[in-house]
Amino acid sequence: MKPEKLAEAYRIDHGKNFKLKDYDPAHTAHWRSKEHAQEALQQGIVRLAELQDKLYAQDRWAVLLIFQAMDAAGKDGAIKHVMSGVNPQGCQVYSFKAPSEKELQHDFLWRTTCDLPERGHIGIFNRSYYEEVLVVRVHPEFFENERVPSSLCGKKLWQERFEDIHAFEHHMARNGTVIRKFFLHLSKKEQKRRFLARLDEPEKNWKFSAADIHERQYWDDYQKAYEDMIRNTSSKHAPWYVVPADNKWFTRLVVAEVVVQTLESLNLSYPKVDEAKLKELQAAKKLLIKA
Ligand code: ATP
Ligand code: MG
Repeated sequence: MKPEKLAEAYRIDHGKNFKLKDYDPAHTAHWRSKEHAQEALQQGIVRLAELQDKLYAQDRWAVLLIFQAMDAAGKDGAIKHVMSGVNPQGCQVYSFKAPSEKELQHDFLWRTTCDLPERGHIGIFNRSYYEEVLVVRVHPEFFENERVPSSLCGKKLWQERFEDIHAFEHHMARNGTVIRKFFLHLSKKEQKRRFLARLDEPEKNWKFSAADIHERQYWDDYQKAYEDMIRNTSSKHAPWYVVPADNKWFTRLVVAEVVVQTLESLNLSYPKVDEAKLKELQAAKKLLIKA
């Protein structure tokens, strides 16, 4: 499979028949090893930097990349590696943890809204408003904390949340924000291996959190919530990518390809200089040469 086909292979535009079990977390297409993928990843990173430069100069489109996953799936590493070549001036990363008291005074879409990317920028959400239909759904006590009036919490609550997210993303897309969403799909076995490495290897100890082990008990509930989320919030204007995450090098290759292809699809170009500006440039050059 060519790198450009990778983006297509894991893309979900219509989630109606989506089943998580059809996707293998250890899949690596025909890519056999990290070394094998390294060159393609490097090329992707270079291409991404060129495209980002045009995105910034053109200042029309904004790009929002959303990352969701179980703990230790490699969100941080994927973001770090894939964006390693881009100009930090045009790219911002935001992480969303448990909401503050102030954030809990508002609807669930409020806190992420201020951090949406400006035109010309790439915004990365490390977790996002999707936590509402993941951790909050799995732990009803978090929903209690939101203090939504009880008359509004009917049987269709989650369906309504999906509809609201869908409508919000459609609104963003219609205004020039291109949204791409990544679910890093990790197996339970590989998560265990990574947690054990965090306990056993001194340089990884800092990453260990007892809360992560606790959350592992809810593995099946989370998988169901992810499946339902992808079924209900995949769309042409904001597709999900179910990225195999058992091999970090492969995750990074797929994410890089998706971002490159997304930017390529925008047909970006540097702004054209008009006649008046051209004259101004020529006059400035003359002045400079004389000086
Ligand atoms: P890392 O562990 O790599 O540093 P992280 O994203 O896992 O990064 P943590 O501080 O470990 O960060 O965890 C953040 C926690 O906040 C997660 O368990 C997440 O589910 C939780 N969280 C995020 N949004 C919400 C929300 N709206 N309501 C309740 N909990 C949330
Ligand atoms: Mg964590």
